[in-house]
Amino acid sequence: MSAPILPGATLGVLGGGQLGRMFAHAAQSMGYFTAVLDADPTSPAGLVSHHHVRTGYEDPKGLAELAQLCAAVTTEFENVPAAALQKLARTLPVSPAGESVAIAQDRAAEKAHFVRCGVPCAPYAEITTPEQLAAVSADLLPGILKTARMGYDGKGQARVRTAAELAAAWDGMGRVACVLEKMLPLAHECSVIVARGRDGAIVNLPVQRNLHRDGILAVTEVHAGNVPASQAQQAVAAAQSVAQGLDYVGVLCVEFFVLEDGSLVVNEIAPRPHNSGHYSQNAMDVSQFELQVRCMAGLPLVQPRQHSAAVMLNLLGDLWFKDGAEAATPAWDQVLALPGTHLHLYGKAEAKPARKMGHLNVTAATPEQARAVALQAAAILG
Ligand code: ADP
Ligand code: MG
Repeated sequence: MSAPILPGATLGVLGGGQLGRMFAHAAQSMGYFTAVLDADPTSPAGLVSHHHVRTGYEDPKGLAELAQLCAAVTTEFENVPAAALQKLARTLPVSPAGESVAIAQDRAAEKAHFVRCGVPCAPYAEITTPEQLAAVSADLLPGILKTARMGYDGKGQARVRTAAELAAAWDGMGRVACVLEKMLPLAHECSVIVARGRDGAIVNLPVQRNLHRDGILAVTEVHAGNVPASQAQQAVAAAQSVAQGLDYVGVLCVEFFVLEDGSLVVNEIAPRPHNSGHYSQNAMDVSQFELQVRCMAGLPLVQPRQHSAAVMLNLLGDLWFKDGAEAATPAWDQVLALPGTHLHLYGKAEAKPARKMGHLNVTAATPEQARAVALQAAAILG
């Protein structure tokens, strides 16, 4: 096992979005320098990093510059080409590995991995050819057709009830590689974040209960008992085996469906910190971003402890628009007058509907208090 990379060194991240920004903040507060690779000169992470390499992910010069600057590299963007991570890994520690990221980038490979790990997922079929389309079992309908690659926040998906609708939807998607998943009766959704070190040590954040609106995460609630204990134990065990099965190094989010009959089904994984883990910045003694730093630097992982009940509200660009017209900046001062509110904005220049602009963490001594304040905050933001 190589020696840990200690503060004072430079840690790099592929991708300049909000996750990279919060990674940079966490690394910097521990005394690391940071480097971001992202072509956008105004990227949220590039704006706060010591170094910003402004090239695409596949630019050999940019990758060489990043490797030169850094002692280790991680990623914040799921669709970074795995080959870029593999290339960097020839000269420095890269976590997660390109091989793990490649599996998370492809819904078919991801589901095959769940099956290998013995973790139940929704019944599904791969659709890459007209023959596979014709052979789809009627048991999978009604279902959701999802592009195998590049889908996020509910994009690249179509709900289909019949074989004819399925065929039309696949045509509409340009006949790219897809998976068809059976539509399941969801009681609720939850996720678990695990962090796994180079030595195989693994720790987890508590089970997060998530509410999505229009395919985008809207609210996460985290407190003991937010999901029944047996489901929580199953979810943590499943997340651990998914990480172990990949020999994963880094922070991994595993999303689950809890079905109406109480059974647990894995949905998808994200090979990086996740929107549903943002509450950890204010409600845990170690945030998911500090865990990312610790993993990539080979520092010890200690089981995180939740010290406050938490509700996280996503702040989408819609808040900057009222009745279709651009409105004033939201009333942050009023929100921050409420007890236990922690505002995180990502420094994005332009608000657009459905764009993730920031999040609000609400912490409190009890779940009821956290929820009450979150409702007040939501009412102010309107
Ligand atoms: P994304 O990559 O966009 O997050 P997901 O596969 O997580 O895509 O789907 C987005 C949301 O759609 C889920 O959070 C869930 O609410 C709903 N959904 C997805 N798959 C199913 C399914 N098989 N049955 C019922 N609801 C689903
Ligand atoms: Mg999802």
